[in-house]
Amino acid sequence: MTRKRREIAPKKMAGATGLEPATSGSTVRSSNQLSYAPTSERLPKVERYSNHTMGSSQVKSKKKVRVGMVSLGCPKALVDSEIVLGALGESRVAIARRVEESDVVLLNTCGFIRDAKNESIDYILGLIEQKKRGRLRAVIVMGCLVQRYAAELQKNFPEVDAFLGSGDYDQLTRVLKSVLAGKRLTVTEHLGYLGKSDEARLTLTPKFSRYLKISEGCNHTCSFCAIPQIRGRFRSRTIADVEKEAKLLVQEGAKEIILIGQDTTQFGCDYAQKPMLSELLEVLERIDGLDWIRLLYAYPNSVSDALIRRIAESRKICHYLDLPLQHISDNILAAMRRGFNRQKTRELIRKLRSDIPDLTLRTSFIVGFPGETEKDFQDLLEFVSWARFERLGVFKYSREEGTRAAKMRPQVPEKVKERRYHELMTLQRGIAEEVSKRQVGREMNVLIEEKMVPDTWKGRTVMDAPEIDPHVIVMSSLALRKGTFYPVRITGAKGYDLLGKI
Ligand code: SF4
Repeated sequence: MTRKRREIAPKKMAGATGLEPATSGSTVRSSNQLSYAPTSERLPKVERYSNHTMGSSQVKSKKKVRVGMVSLGCPKALVDSEIVLGALGESRVAIARRVEESDVVLLNTCGFIRDAKNESIDYILGLIEQKKRGRLRAVIVMGCLVQRYAAELQKNFPEVDAFLGSGDYDQLTRVLKSVLAGKRLTVTEHLGYLGKSDEARLTLTPKFSRYLKISEGCNHTCSFCAIPQIRGRFRSRTIADVEKEAKLLVQEGAKEIILIGQDTTQFGCDYAQKPMLSELLEVLERIDGLDWIRLLYAYPNSVSDALIRRIAESRKICHYLDLPLQHISDNILAAMRRGFNRQKTRELIRKLRSDIPDLTLRTSFIVGFPGETEKDFQDLLEFVSWARFERLGVFKYSREEGTRAAKMRPQVPEKVKERRYHELMTLQRGIAEEVSKRQVGREMNVLIEEKMVPDTWKGRTVMDAPEIDPHVIVMSSLALRKGTFYPVRITGAKGYDLLGKI
């Protein structure tokens, strides 16, 4: 970036700090490392791409406007980007391979926490710079940051041609036309885009591993979280529609489907008045050709016995659960409005460990939440030592405007947050090393993702979700195929990653 980052609405944002994620899984994920694979049934002639810039349908027509995309944020935003690209791919525009080859760039932003917001602003500034140099005709900014700060963005970034909120992606073609006609506009009518199976999706992940968004929005009122303001009330798709999309993804080559939503365990509650996730999983398990069904973002008090049984008994549903717990101290959990306490949390962990002995448990905690005492933090350390999570992410509390917690007192000093963050991460590093050592000598089923250098491949086991968890570095002189499972003998560990041989 050549220009200094500008904070949007300095007054309003003054109190906002960042949740700075780290994960004992592997690298910190600041944005999607996109790679591209074709969805040949839906969009012709597409190629691989990487590093945030959008992949291409190489439509060779000089008359067509070339549209590129930069997709930031979480897997839910990634799915939105895929839907937007799918819609564009069906209209009369050419999808550009990278920013430098674009006339118009779409930037899908994240507005959840300070670091994510700053990253989005950096990208906006970079694109504005490109436009000023005459390399771009227009810049369209979309997604969560827009939904949260539309007025401030409009005011601070007059060079941006259009802003599109998190629920209005079906308006993009109209917005693009207006922009090309020289109009500047902002559309933020709806919160959160749910999507459905008959919408084309241009693939932004390897085709063998696809995200599937089963719900949108959230009805919880966690006091630190701005998501409900950005994505709206909870609503879920029907089982039939999710099944239809899952089958399409499998036809396109998916071996792994990763179910996502702000809270996947609430699936169905909006229209069936009871959780329907177990029923959905039962249906998805019957899809031939699908090997792994992975569940992210489970809310602890909605993890039912039926769901645990379903996971335990299944050979397709990964024995992996992402279960953000946020804290263990009763005081802090109550202040967070999590609707769960220490005792219930311990009981749930015990049950999960006993009913699914080979479960990989991923969780995340927030340190430095307002009012967190040294005792609360020591309780958290003790709990983590006890629970031995295989994967764990730590966030420093972010004081987000518009949330209840932003007004709570006392706020914890940044230095204290920093210390607690490092202490927890250090503890978890030791646990993660133990977990890795336990795998040495085992033969594990590894989904090969890419070739790194000759005779060296990178893959994942059932214990690893893409982007957030470690890898297995596989040495083999065989011609392995990406997107294929191989039995790999685990020979050692390096950092958080495992080493293996075929
Ligand atoms: S469950 Fe809580 S933390 Fe998660 S999106 Fe909903 S309000 Fe935010």
